Amino acid sequence: MAPPPLPAKDEPLRFDFVTIFPNMIAALLGEGVIARAIKQGLLDVRVWDLRDFASDRHRSTDDEAYGGGPGMVMLGEPVFRCVEAIRGQSPSEGIEAGSPAPHLIMTSPQGRRFDQNIAKELAADGWIVFLCGRYEGFDHRVLEALHPDEISIGDFVVSGGELPAMLMADACGRMIGGVVGNNGSVEEDSFYHGLLDYPHYTRPEELRGMRVPEVLMSGHHEKIRKWRKEQSLRATLDRRPDLLERAELDDEAAAILRAIREEKE
Ligand code: SAH
Repeated sequence: MAPPPLPAKDEPLRFDFVTIFPNMIAALLGEGVIARAIKQGLLDVRVWDLRDFASDRHRSTDDEAYGGGPGMVMLGEPVFRCVEAIRGQSPSEGIEAGSPAPHLIMTSPQGRRFDQNIAKELAADGWIVFLCGRYEGFDHRVLEALHPDEISIGDFVVSGGELPAMLMADACGRMIGGVVGNNGSVEEDSFYHGLLDYPHYTRPEELRGMRVPEVLMSGHHEKIRKWRKEQSLRATLDRRPDLLERAELDDEAAAILRAIREEKE
């Protein structure tokens, strides 16, 4: 069984974004669950403009590729300087010198594929730095020197690391107790226990001729709990049977699944 959401720690979960487009990150910080968690002090988000760490007066952060070709490459030196500046800061007062080191992530389509388990793993680390690439990505020597954890959001390429980093930060932030108003809803989300979520309904009782399933109107909590569990198992079996191979099912879930499979035969 997956653990419950991580308890809120004394220290907020900290995210640092390293980017040449700091304003893009504002979209994550302005509204919704993550914005509220920042206000409540559960998350601490800092945005670093890579241009502030450039070494020339044009504040360059990219240059042409050695060997030729059309795309620009992100310069290594500004990244090294910025990461040094971030590491030099303690996440807050009162932490023993040298103890916390941030988990350094390089957003990259070549990395290990992000999922709910990685989100939990990262949230438990407490401090995450995201390197957001642009153009062809970073000078390879950034990888050689900093050994970042390369993480991809899927087998496709987007134009920059900002959206992937915001997406990962959102998924990690949700893992911290109190960030999502009601912890139960995180635990019941798709993937949390290795299964897909059950269907949700709200008012009215009848919408364009379609009725809400009777059991949900019954007020019978035990029946509703079981119905939802069964729906969750059905959805997973129909759409993502691969998840069932890895899911840790309790006895009740295993029995429901056996019954569904028998019914299908
Ligand atoms: N030339 C690179 C792609 C560069 S895309 C390659 O083919 O591997 C520019 C930047 O967008 C990357 O440096 C990375 O930060 C980000 N990016 C693009 N697709 C991504 C994905 N699937 N997951 C995470 N980051 C991605």
